[in-house]
Amino acid sequence: AAKGAGRNRFSYFTPALQVAALNRMRLTNDLRGAIKGQQLRVYFQPIVHLGTGRIHKAEALVRWQHPQRGLVSPLEFIPLAESSGLIVEIGEWVFKESARWARQWRGEHHPEFQVSVNQSPLEFQREGQGYEHWFAHLRDIGLEGSAMVVEITEGLLLDASSGVTDKLLQLRDAGVQVALDDFGTGYSSLSYLNKFDIDYLKIDRSFIRNLAPQSSDMALSEAIIVMAHKLGLRVVAEGVETAEQCALLLRAGCDYGQGYLFSPPLPAEDFDAMLRSPLVLLDGARR
Ligand code: C2E
Ligand code: MG
Ligand code: MG
Ligand code: MG
Repeated sequence: AAKGAGRNRFSYFTPALQVAALNRMRLTNDLRGAIKGQQLRVYFQPIVHLGTGRIHKAEALVRWQHPQRGLVSPLEFIPLAESSGLIVEIGEWVFKESARWARQWRGEHHPEFQVSVNQSPLEFQREGQGYEHWFAHLRDIGLEGSAMVVEITEGLLLDASSGVTDKLLQLRDAGVQVALDDFGTGYSSLSYLNKFDIDYLKIDRSFIRNLAPQSSDMALSEAIIVMAHKLGLRVVAEGVETAEQCALLLRAGCDYGQGYLFSPPLPAEDFDAMLRSPLVLLDGARR
């Protein structure tokens, strides 16, 4: 287009917005090459059973080792992956890496170990495709479905289309468990907890951050835990950073904790090493 016309068309952009938009375009382009270029990494963060201080599970969290920009946060590139559709390919890769490590950890003295993977609404609701290829992959590598947990967000359950119901049933039939991530931040229509087969609630870290005796966040957390248990769900607290938060959650009957108090997300090899020395963690968790 002519220079003048271009200026007219885009005059509502401020220069800062233009730079941001350009940045996003470049990053999206780079992301296309990132999978093939082996720039993605899966980190694992322990999910600790509060009653024993043992690591029962891990959450897989993707990282992007960008050749020029260094480690790019998923908060930055997952939205780009979603809008470009690349999220599907990324999700497949994260799933396979997670399953591979889950099999290893189950094989080595942790027969009940589970690895959870995040699924964006876009991945979960993929047109015309269910999770059959996941199950085929699990069969190929000889891993039970119960080794895996899928983390979805509340918003998905609002859209009570049969597609969502079918996929949840499909996962359940294969033994794969389901967690509601960031619980309490979405449109918590609690009736959905009964309608769908959910195994875990993950209390969002915004409730945990200011946890203190007698606080309203404490009341909310306690209520969530009691309700979840009555419905047969187990509860994971996200973003546990202090020993006090951990103690309050333990006293409130929370089943699991995840957060920097125990460990940040780690490269698989480092997580693997930590899993071999559970007593160190036990000390930290119960202090
Ligand atoms: P999430 O699923 O809620 O994951 C938990 C986030 O909290 C992670 O951020 C984790 O590093 C962070 N975190 C853990 N403990 C603490 C703590 O004690 N304090 C604080 N302040 N933060 C803590 P991360 O790794 O940056 O991931 C951000 C989000 O990106 C995830 O939130 C998830 O929604 C999304 N994500 C990450 N990996 C994937 C993936 O493979 N697929 C999809 N679809 N989404 C992903
Ligand atoms: Mg998650
Ligand atoms: Mg979360
Ligand atoms: Mg999330």
